Amino acid sequence: MFRFVRVILLCASLSLAASVAVHSQHVDLLLHNGKVLVVDDAFSMRQAIAVRDGKVVEVGGEDLVKKYDANRVIDLRGRLLMPGFNDIHIHISGDSRRFVALAGTRSVEELKNKIRAKAKELGPGEWITGYGWAEDDFAENRLPSRVDLDEAAPQNPVVLSRAGGHSVVANSLALKLGEIARNTPNPPSGVIERDKGGEPTGVIRESFESLTRLVPPDKTEELLPSFQGHLQDLLSLGITSLVQAGVTPEQYAAEWEAVYGQDGASLPRATVQILWAGREKMIAFGKKTGDGDDRLRVGAIKLFVDGGFTGPAAYTLAPYKNQGEYRGQLRYSEKELYEIVKAGNELGWQMGFHTIGDGAIKLLADTFARVLRESPRSDHRYYFAHFSMLPPEDTLKEISENHLLVAQQPNFTYTLEQRYVDNLEGARLQHNNPLATLTRHGIFMAFSSDILPIGPIVGLYAAVTRKGKSGTVYGSDEKISMADAIRHYTRDGAYLTRQEKVKGTLEPGKMADMIVLNKDLLTIDPSQILTTEVDLTIVDGRIVYERSSEKKPAAR
Ligand SMILES: [Zn+2]
Repeated sequence: MFRFVRVILLCASLSLAASVAVHSQHVDLLLHNGKVLVVDDAFSMRQAIAVRDGKVVEVGGEDLVKKYDANRVIDLRGRLLMPGFNDIHIHISGDSRRFVALAGTRSVEELKNKIRAKAKELGPGEWITGYGWAEDDFAENRLPSRVDLDEAAPQNPVVLSRAGGHSVVANSLALKLGEIARNTPNPPSGVIERDKGGEPTGVIRESFESLTRLVPPDKTEELLPSFQGHLQDLLSLGITSLVQAGVTPEQYAAEWEAVYGQDGASLPRATVQILWAGREKMIAFGKKTGDGDDRLRVGAIKLFVDGGFTGPAAYTLAPYKNQGEYRGQLRYSEKELYEIVKAGNELGWQMGFHTIGDGAIKLLADTFARVLRESPRSDHRYYFAHFSMLPPEDTLKEISENHLLVAQQPNFTYTLEQRYVDNLEGARLQHNNPLATLTRHGIFMAFSSDILPIGPIVGLYAAVTRKGKSGTVYGSDEKISMADAIRHYTRDGAYLTRQEKVKGTLEPGKMADMIVLNKDLLTIDPSQILTTEVDLTIVDGRIVYERSSEKKPAAR
């Protein structure tokens, strides 16, 4: 039987070869003379890859050069080619004219200069917003305060989000308009920082809607150009697929469908989590997980079970280091969380909820397990968005047994080092953002970056070294191999969004989403990882980013 089929096939291909000799072996793109990492089960490494109609046709040796007639041939000159990063938790938005980009600001003085310039541009009375400052980066090694901002912009209300988005600093005018004064009590799940005299310092943690709601809304069409620009910037970080970690149903239509409808082919592929808006609104939205196309689709429901570590407001099982009985806060009661998970399960959505503290992780694990016990659902792929602390052993077991997934941010160990050192100690500090322990428990992980412009390269570095920014190693038994780290940042992300059959590896038939790097991550010394750069990004078989030697990759 087998021989018979083979003869038929041979005849068919011979006759095809005779009539359309060129076209039968024609491809759009051929990359060769490199290290082509397929990230298949065997983690194979080949030399060449052929692409047609946006799909991988074949991976193999140098003989592919002779076999295929390609529109474009690229000599990789020995470089590493691998699947593009699938970054399954990031936040992208358009910039308002009020907005000041603060990532990379090196001092409070520099911050003040940026705000001063924006105040001059906008004129008095206009709100000024911004994102991305981090006191760890400041030469002065301290938090900014309302006094600093008053000096820079006395006549404009100013509110600036810290990197990570879990705290803000505001000036006196903004505090006044938000009615935040000496005697204002802390909001239910937030903290108004105060100086020794009891006056607000300007820094507010976790709950600052009383200020941000005062900022006049921007017209969507004003935001779209920068929104699109930020999405394109991801290509220079090697990100070919992303998960946006939560937008409202309205934003999905007004921003995401608008931008992807215009020119989705020049952007990374996106899956968009929808913020829980109540049962009725989720039904009225009319779409659910998986709806959309190869470029833009609806992801899981997003919800914040607790806060973040920059506060800190993550909900922990034991009190924070040196903070009395303080354990952070839950955003929902156990009962409320149960009702939401039950509704999400019934409505057939995937769910991926924000959990940072071990207390929040335990509660969500228990809640998912309870709901799945009551109304079993196979292949649900429910997940924890963040897993910054190691929960108790029986919680790990529960997570593994219920096949709950983890969207992990290995770079947090590096980026947020100081937050963990300030708030945790002992084993809790060493096992921050655990990796190998989860693998040992058979828990599935996919990787993401979260705090842009930090890209996957920083995550890979932290995953294999477990080093903080200072160089200190945290929990060296949590280290994983580069091969595993690459898997978690590519094919495992495709699994998390239920797309493992169509992308995430470079096996024939899969989407030709891939990157070329200037260093071989698998053989270089770990000290060389952070300076690795993306030379080429290809989505759907098209080159969408190419690094020029004189220009640094654009990053947000
Ligand atoms: Zn996030």
